Amino acid sequence: MGTGERTPAGSAGDGYFDVIVVGAGSGGIYAVHRLAQQGLTVLGIEAGGGVGGVWYHNRYPGARVDVDSLEYSYQFSPAIARRWRWTERYAAQPELAAYFDFVADDLTARRRFLFDTRVSRAVWDPAKRAWQVSTDSRLHLSCRYLVMTTGNLSAARRPNFPGIDRFAGQLVLSSHWPQEEVSLRAQRVGVIGTGSSGVQVATALASQVDHLYVFQRTANYSVAAQNRLLDASAQELRAERLAEERQVLLGRPAGTSILRPEHPAGYYSPAEQQALLERQWAHGGQGMNAVFSDQGLDPAANQIVSEFVRNKIRETVKDQDLAEVLCPRYPIGTRRLILDTGYYEIFNQDNVTLVNLANDPLVEVTRRGVRTRSRLYELDVIVCALGFNAFSGALIEAGIANHEGVTFAEAWAHGPRTLLGLMSSQFPNLFLPTGAGSPSVLVNMILLNEFHMDWVADCIAYLDQRGHGTIVPTPEGEELWTAEVAEASATLLRRQVDNYMVHVNQDGSRVFMPYAGGLDRYVPKALQVAADGYSGFRLE
Ligand code: NAP
Repeated sequence: MGTGERTPAGSAGDGYFDVIVVGAGSGGIYAVHRLAQQGLTVLGIEAGGGVGGVWYHNRYPGARVDVDSLEYSYQFSPAIARRWRWTERYAAQPELAAYFDFVADDLTARRRFLFDTRVSRAVWDPAKRAWQVSTDSRLHLSCRYLVMTTGNLSAARRPNFPGIDRFAGQLVLSSHWPQEEVSLRAQRVGVIGTGSSGVQVATALASQVDHLYVFQRTANYSVAAQNRLLDASAQELRAERLAEERQVLLGRPAGTSILRPEHPAGYYSPAEQQALLERQWAHGGQGMNAVFSDQGLDPAANQIVSEFVRNKIRETVKDQDLAEVLCPRYPIGTRRLILDTGYYEIFNQDNVTLVNLANDPLVEVTRRGVRTRSRLYELDVIVCALGFNAFSGALIEAGIANHEGVTFAEAWAHGPRTLLGLMSSQFPNLFLPTGAGSPSVLVNMILLNEFHMDWVADCIAYLDQRGHGTIVPTPEGEELWTAEVAEASATLLRRQVDNYMVHVNQDGSRVFMPYAGGLDRYVPKALQVAADGYSGFRLE
């Protein structure tokens, strides 16, 4: 069945494509470009109305990237780098959205996407060696290869608090912030959730609203981003040597300028430790996770960093009782570190109240607001920043199933199983760029998307050249890689702390879902697999 007038350029005309790419975020934009360049027929499908992925949907006030903008950029095109100028070290959402619009137009990638279209079902047909893809707009398409550039943090956790439907005010999700303006001035606003999204939106709203209630269940670590304006000359210089810069980033553990720390905490005197921590604080950013080589492994080393950041919170928040409620108690870096632009300062304002759900749990939402065990907070707007069904959420929502009807909910019931995080043994011809089992959310997403899509495009070219119609990890190949992913996180403190990167099985066993060995170690492994003729995969 054809796609009618909505078929974008590049279609074979009968609804059959070499590749269907799902998601028009940083990965999807590059994917359709890269694959079409290779002469493949490509269709992109995107649920939102435009490109940008998370930066299209998460347009809440205060949304801002937490990786340096210069690094959180496409690295493959000097032409793009020459013509784009970031204004801030950590770009805010409007600038990021403009960047993805700019790149999508520059690569003429936009015309390859169907927007406002959601994949509702994708089933592997072994006889036709094709994925049969259906959409909520009742399109029925098929493709040889399915590429899920849906991201790991896109399937939102939606609020299911008792009574939520009764709320008479406005309910918004940070992850699906409305396109139209949300009226916040002179309103009583509650933000539920204090991860990166909740912290950013609360910081932005504190100066706009009549009263802000921050509902915190677990205190998280947030460090000063030390955001600043960027000058143009450094960017021009960088654009001129982009290929080199790209190689440098691919050789770094997080695909950023952050290096592996050289020494354990014990190598330094207490005064030297504090000096290093102060230097990192002044520099700002995710580097607070990489001051000592053993801070992610040794509770005592970690405690030095944790206590340093807790003391910063105590220095900032005037009410010391309140500061203690805001002080996290788990080891720093075992959940994603939050970067902020003045979060703890808002709690010195009279119009901001912290509600400690750990002591006073949320019981229900009523017509008038949020009721905790001890009182009702009357609200005009509730902002839910509850996070995502990470990694498998988008794959499950897209209704992906193999020929036996096996879904990701079943295949990954005990945690993700992949080869290189790119493919899973029960799903032939399905690529999962930045997926679980790859460095994934631990690294620079744009860079990893580029690397993965180059790998995928090269892989498809290899298969086509040799007349192979399918590729899938062998059970042994998948087993070996899954064991390697487990090994990479075996001694990490972060595996023991509950958060969206850890899958906890009913028997209590824990699976750390991203590959924690670092991008620098991952890249040569992935390239070697390809150089060896896709060892660990079965090609037919
Ligand atoms: P998150 O880190 O998973 O945080 C979700 C928050 O919602 C947590 O505070 C959680 O509390 C709370 N929550 C969930 N269910 C709740 C319930 N039933 N009652 C009360 N509280 C509840 O999600 P996120 O903030 O969206 O961030 C996810 C990831 O997206 C980040 O780690 C980051 O990788 C990315 N992100 C990045 C940026 C950026 O700076 N560039 C911005 C936003 C997001 P508990 O901790 O107690 O579970």
